[in-house]
Amino acid sequence: MAHSKDLLVLENFIGGKFVSCSSYIDSYNPSTGDVYCRVPDSGEEEVEAAVKAAQDAFPDWSSKSPLERSQILNKLADLIEQDLEAFAKAESKDQGKTITFARTVDIPRAVYNFRFFASSILHHVTECTEMATMGCVHYTSRAPVGVAGLISPWNLPLYLLTWKIAPAIACGNTVVAKPSEMTSVTAWMMCKLLDKAGVPHGVVNVVFGTGAKAGEALVCHPNVPLISFTGSTLTAQRIMEKSAPHCKRLSLELGGKNPAIIFDDADLSQCIPTTLKSSFANQGEICLCTSRIFVQRGIYSEFLKWFVAEAKKWKAGNPSDPTVSVGALISKEHLEKVRSYVKRAQAEGARVLCGEGVDSLDLPAGNKKGYFMLPTVIAEVQDESCCMQEEIFGPVTCVVAFDTEEEVIKRANSVKYGLAATVWSSNVGRVHRVARRLQSGLVWTNCWLIRDLNLPFGGMKASGIGREGAKDSYEFFTEVKTITIKH
Ligand code: NAD
Repeated sequence: MAHSKDLLVLENFIGGKFVSCSSYIDSYNPSTGDVYCRVPDSGEEEVEAAVKAAQDAFPDWSSKSPLERSQILNKLADLIEQDLEAFAKAESKDQGKTITFARTVDIPRAVYNFRFFASSILHHVTECTEMATMGCVHYTSRAPVGVAGLISPWNLPLYLLTWKIAPAIACGNTVVAKPSEMTSVTAWMMCKLLDKAGVPHGVVNVVFGTGAKAGEALVCHPNVPLISFTGSTLTAQRIMEKSAPHCKRLSLELGGKNPAIIFDDADLSQCIPTTLKSSFANQGEICLCTSRIFVQRGIYSEFLKWFVAEAKKWKAGNPSDPTVSVGALISKEHLEKVRSYVKRAQAEGARVLCGEGVDSLDLPAGNKKGYFMLPTVIAEVQDESCCMQEEIFGPVTCVVAFDTEEEVIKRANSVKYGLAATVWSSNVGRVHRVARRLQSGLVWTNCWLIRDLNLPFGGMKASGIGREGAKDSYEFFTEVKTITIKH
């Protein structure tokens, strides 16, 4: 290609070396619509080489002490942190998100993921029970499983990939990771730091490419006994089918259709700014984003007026402009899909109160071909509507009224997903009652996205299988054995 000399060209990272690939795919800068990067289009051959390198590295890495591994993870965290600004800029360019978001959320969290698991790996205890009448003690022993296959999505690229790499290698596994083909750059940048951090060759291998080719080769590889996947429910179904013949261990973190339930005693001065963030942060491209807002009828009009007025203040545009809150969506296709939901809602009789089709999007000259969309609020939507049932994964949220606690719990639970919910009320008893009855792996009351990484993260129903967190990831990435000693 004539212009290929100007493009960033990535290489796979296998056995501690960067290796080129025989074919490549284009990667776009979502805020300009230009191709700026070429990503290896890996397949079975590359995955085979990466799995072999990971297998070779396993005996040494798995026999290191948790403390030795912990020190290496901490070193890697320091190195990423030293380059935080470069990582943040790269994440923004590759994904479309604002640099501010990448600088304050994505990259600090990627650093923290390594620090967190570097610490937590030092503190696990295994179980022991005594059966005195039989003269026995039983205890459990845990060991790393082997080569872990890690597959991550495009919305929080380095954040979610490191949330898998860190616990996997802290536990003594070696890994083959496959980031999203749309956002591969920061994973490639991280590979450049592995050697300096002291990560032995072959412990972390990264193959770039599409899900259908590279992802599926990893899922189907007989020497990869566990797959940790974050992405859509549809892809997870395919992964379950493909891995079934090998009886693989799966951790699946999937989509959501997350409700916010706002009772009439909620503190709206807290609730509204937080619900704006929970609806539109990262362009609404977070699995935990709110997309169904149930407001108790007594405060419905006030809420809607206030919420829409504030949503209109969110500026969309150049992701490096610090006054911009809404960057570009990941791709042209995704933008079209998100827009199509708004059109369908209108066709069904819903009212679009701001954003798409209502307000004009004023973009700088360099961003006119970017994939931008304004925060969009839809009211008067039926619960059965696709906008209230399907994951849109963009800056679109629906607001509807409810009357009673019983009614809203039923309606909030009436979707196939069960990832995250928020509940807003100053009545402590009600908050506990409602939280217990929501079919949701995470419930935030009077807040959103405050996480303690020690505790389980994951979804119910179509939102996933398994949980991640200090103890949960440790259990997933290790094999347990019960040993009985008779004396
Ligand atoms: P996706 O399922 O299309 O892709 C996710 C990853 O899987 C990518 O790396 C992709 O290349 C790979 N993949 C695709 N097909 C594959 C196959 N057949 N075999 C193996 N790998 C394959 O998802 P996406 O569009 O990248 O991400 C958005 C989705 O991720 C949304 O549904 C969102 O809710 C979900 N998500 C969930 C969480 C969570 O923690 N629950 C977090 C972030 C995103």
